[in-house]
Amino acid sequence: MGIVQGATFADLRRESARQLLEMDFPGYAIGGLAVGEPHELTCEIAAEVSELLPPDRPRYLMGVGKPEQLADYVALGVDTMDCVLPTRAARHACLYTSEGRVLIKNARFAEDQNPIDGNCSCSVCRRYTRAYLRHLFAANEFTGAILATHHNVHFYLDIMRRIREAIEFGTLAKFSSEMRARYAAGPA
Ligand SMILES: [Zn+2]
Repeated sequence: MGIVQGATFADLRRESARQLLEMDFPGYAIGGLAVGEPHELTCEIAAEVSELLPPDRPRYLMGVGKPEQLADYVALGVDTMDCVLPTRAARHACLYTSEGRVLIKNARFAEDQNPIDGNCSCSVCRRYTRAYLRHLFAANEFTGAILATHHNVHFYLDIMRRIREAIEFGTLAKFSSEMRARYAAGPA
């Protein structure tokens, strides 16, 4: 896979893409973004590069993103992404749910017998309570991080499943604004 570089300089991006296209890769990545710049700028550059890439080759946007941003990248023509966020957040007891983010260490979950997310079909949500997860984190038991990671990764994969569904039904823009409303507020 050829990686298009050039930071936020459109001319360098174009030149990088031109040279890589000459080499005729089976797929193309957009690198050097999501390094702290605003989401709007990431989208602007990703859109610029995406337009230069052949439609019949997979496009990989490296290092993104937050749950509420994934649909935006897909709308720009991105096929695949990777990110530390679901696993890193999980290790810090931050869980993604259909109601927004949950910091499971919070004392209010001490007696909570509900699953992390009642709408999640992952094996953690089917077996364990919020109170148990909170206990594991409070006791510095590493199983807490493992279970939280399993849930968060499942959550991300479910977002991608819902994005594919939204594309089929022509409702990607609506899905995107719903996700923004739910997750844009609060901690990352
Ligand atoms: Zn779950």
